Amino acid sequence: MPGNGNKNFPDKSSMKIPFINLQLQHESIKQEIDSAIQEVLQSSQFIGGLKVQAFERAFANTLGVKHCIGTGNGTDSLYLILKALGIGPGDEVLTPAFSCIATAECITLTGATPVFVDVHPEYYTIDASLAAKKITSKTKAILAVHLYGQVADLVTLKSICENHKLFLVEDCAQAHLSSYNNQLAGTFGIASAFSFYPTKNLGALGDAGCVVTHDDSLAEKVRRLSNHGALQRNDHEYPGINSRLDTLQAAVLFTKLSHLLHWNKQRLEIANQYSAALADLKNITIPKITEQTNHTFHIYGIRAKRRGELRKHLDSKGIDTLIHYPKGLPFTKAYWSKNISESDFPVTASLQNEILSLPIYPGLKTEQINFLTKTLKEFNM
Ligand SMILES: *Cc1c(COP(=O)(O)O)cnc(C)c1O
Repeated sequence: MPGNGNKNFPDKSSMKIPFINLQLQHESIKQEIDSAIQEVLQSSQFIGGLKVQAFERAFANTLGVKHCIGTGNGTDSLYLILKALGIGPGDEVLTPAFSCIATAECITLTGATPVFVDVHPEYYTIDASLAAKKITSKTKAILAVHLYGQVADLVTLKSICENHKLFLVEDCAQAHLSSYNNQLAGTFGIASAFSFYPTKNLGALGDAGCVVTHDDSLAEKVRRLSNHGALQRNDHEYPGINSRLDTLQAAVLFTKLSHLLHWNKQRLEIANQYSAALADLKNITIPKITEQTNHTFHIYGIRAKRRGELRKHLDSKGIDTLIHYPKGLPFTKAYWSKNISESDFPVTASLQNEILSLPIYPGLKTEQINFLTKTLKEFNM
C-alpha cells in the first residue's frame, strides 16, 4: 500500500498497525522454534524422516482423520487430490467464483475445466443452490472453499454430491480447525487440502501444505504422486511430481500446532471486538457467521461502500489493510472470457469492489483495535 508521503512525520493521532505481525508470534515461542530447528540441523535429515511423520500424525490426530500427507504447499495439495481422484481433460469441477486463484489453477493444471459458481451474498462461500444448477454430465467434483475461516454449506454440498455421484473436496487453506455443526472442516469430503503458507492460521517458515483423507487408497495415491510416483526410493509406480513437506517446516509446524487453538481463540476475540464496535455503522457490513460455523477468522473482511477512500483514510492513520480479493476469479485475466459478464456473478462482482480485510492476528492489542474502530467510525460520520 503506497503511503501518503508523510510516513516520516505521522500526525499525533496515528498508531502504526501493520496488516500482520509474524514477529510477535515468533517471539512468543522463540525457544521452542529455535530448538526444533536445531534438532533438524543436527540430524541433517532435510527431506522426510521422523519429524515429518510426527507432524503428519499429530495433524491427522488433531483433525480426527486417518491420513495426513505433507506436501510442498496448498496449491499442490489441491492439485494432488484432483489428480489422485482421476480428474483430467474433459472433466468439470465446480468451484467458487470468489476465492484465491489456487482453487481454480489446481483444476486447470489437471486439464479439467473450472466451472465458477457465485458465492452466497451473506456468507461469501460457494452458493450450494447455484452449484446444483451448474452440474452437467461432465461434472466430477465440487471444490468448496472455507473462505476467511467460514465453513461452506457442507451439509447441502454433501447431499448434492451424493445425489450426483460427485466428489466433495475441501479447500481448508483458510480454515485450520474451523468447524461445522461441531465437526472439523477437512473431515467432510473425500479429501481436503491445507496450506501452511506463513500467514495462514498455522503457518510454516516458508511454503508448506498437506492433504488429509479418510480413504486409504487415495492417501497412497496422493503420497506417491507427491513423490515421483514412489513410496520408497526407486519404486516409481507412475509419474508424479516433487511436492513434499520439508523436514524443517514439519518440525516448526509440529511446535506451532500445539498453539493453534489458542491463536484461533485470540483471532475470534479480535473479530468479536471489531464486530461489536462496527455493527451499527452505515456503509459498512461486518462479517456474518453461519449458525453452523465455528469461525477461525483467517481474514476479517468488511464490506465498505466507499472502499477506496476508506482505505486511504486508514492508511493516513498508519493502519494497513488488504483486499482479498480485488478480482473474482472469472474476472481475472487468467480466467476471463468474452462471454462472461458481471451479471453472471453478481455477488462476486460486488464483493470485489467492496471487500476490505482488516488486520487480525494473535498479539494485536486492544488499544490498536480501539484505535482502528475509532478511525473507521470517524470516516463514517
Ligand atoms: C493460501 C490459499 C491456497 C494456496 O496455498 P499455497 O500454500 O499458497 O499454495 C489455496 N486456497 C486458498 C483458499 C488459500 O487461501
